[in-house]
Amino acid sequence: MAKIKHVRTNVLIIGGGLSGLALAGALGEAGVDCVCIDRAPPVTQLTETYDGRTTAISYASHLVLKTAGAWETMLPDCEPIRDIRVADGASPFYLHFSHDDDGNEKYDPGREAPPFGWIIENRILRHRLFNNVKRLKKHVRHIAPAEIREFIRGKNDVGVILEDGARITAPLMIGADGRNSAVRQWLGIGVKNADYKQSAIVCNVAHELDHENAAVEHFRSAGPFAVLPMTRGAQGEHRSSVVWTEHGTDTKEILSLNAEDFDARLQELFGPHLGAVRHISKPMSYPLGLMHADSYIGARVALMAEAAHAIHPIAGQGLNLSLRDVAVLTELIFEHLRCGLDPGGDTLLQKYQSARRGDTLLMAGVTDLLNRLFSNDLTTVRLIRGLGLGIVHKIPPLKRYFARQAMGISGIMQKSLRKATN
Ligand SMILES: Cc1cc2nc3c(=O)[nH]c(=O)nc-3n(C[C@H](O)[C@H](O)[C@H](O)COP(=O)(O)OP(=O)(O)OC[C@H]3O[C@@H](n4cnc5c(N)ncnc54)[C@H](O)[C@@H]3O)c2cc1C
Repeated sequence: MAKIKHVRTNVLIIGGGLSGLALAGALGEAGVDCVCIDRAPPVTQLTETYDGRTTAISYASHLVLKTAGAWETMLPDCEPIRDIRVADGASPFYLHFSHDDDGNEKYDPGREAPPFGWIIENRILRHRLFNNVKRLKKHVRHIAPAEIREFIRGKNDVGVILEDGARITAPLMIGADGRNSAVRQWLGIGVKNADYKQSAIVCNVAHELDHENAAVEHFRSAGPFAVLPMTRGAQGEHRSSVVWTEHGTDTKEILSLNAEDFDARLQELFGPHLGAVRHISKPMSYPLGLMHADSYIGARVALMAEAAHAIHPIAGQGLNLSLRDVAVLTELIFEHLRCGLDPGGDTLLQKYQSARRGDTLLMAGVTDLLNRLFSNDLTTVRLIRGLGLGIVHKIPPLKRYFARQAMGISGIMQKSLRKATN
């Protein structure tokens, strides 16, 4: 009889999406052994139709990717965001943030002001993260596709048995297996859910004029319409990605338009500022909802990223929050192992939960409020938000505060990430 394989490791990561792969890279780069398993084959995950989105990587998140050793390989495909423009429908109130508005030399003395963040295609980001874990094969084992038959628990470890009979155990397991997390369900942890009854249509577009590294967000009653600057295409064409939010019921009709009519709708939404526009990738839609797990931890298990929290993409912060989970988990696991402590013990788990829940709840609340406030056509609400934008525009410290939020470098994160990269 063939012997059933048993792999023991320090950390077992269930789910090798963008967040799971980033964690595997950060742990591997720190010399911590881990196994990351995913049910989807990597070739499928790299096809154009698997994930049509782009991600706005904040300044703080790029520091996490740098720590994971993955940043330099993705940088050529990242387009910096140097300006953020927020428009309230056709209202004259227009909020404009420039990356050098806010005296960033205070943050990074003597250096050019950093951009707010960068735009990269998810497909390319995933490809670079795959390559990064391959590079770290001394410490990281990436097993995909792999189907879990059952979760198991021992006295000092936890793990899975795969469909092929292989057993993988570790003192700590991380659930990074997305919104419908099997790990979370196995732990019996409930969630709070809210359906926004909106969907985001995403696609990439080519346009006549240069985007000048500006990210533009138009607030409309159906939801925001965001245009995000991308690197030039293979033929040197100007490109941007679009996140176009609509009431869920209208999405089907829009996706069924022929190419010409779809482009005409896009042109109406873009207006004239980038010249003629046409889509260059298949439009795809994502239903939007808020989800928050009642707890991020169970015995020897931590939930991270969309297994623990999913928010509205109005501020492009979902993955950025998850990369903050990565930063905290990596630091705690590394410190515990270095001091000979149990990485799956209660101390680590409680520290992780208390470091992350507040930040996530705050961001979930802010994005929820922004969506309610801006996806609203009531005259009073329009007046209030118009005044709000006008006030923020006129008060430099307030403007600075919002700019730092966009970069993800406010408060505690600023301190811990600066420490991590010095
Ligand atoms: C329209 C839109 C735009 C967005 N834009 C931004 C942005 O600009 N910036 C930003 O920061 N965030 C953004 N986000 C959020 C971001 O895309 C998500 O947070 C991110 O993709 C989620 O990654 P994840 O790794 O947590 O989950 P997932 O991508 O869902 O990965 C989960 C992985 O687990 C695997 N898996 C699932 N179940 C199992 C199982 N039982 N066994 C093994 N493997 C399993 C899956 O195959 C998958 O690979 C946006 C979201 C949307 C909808």
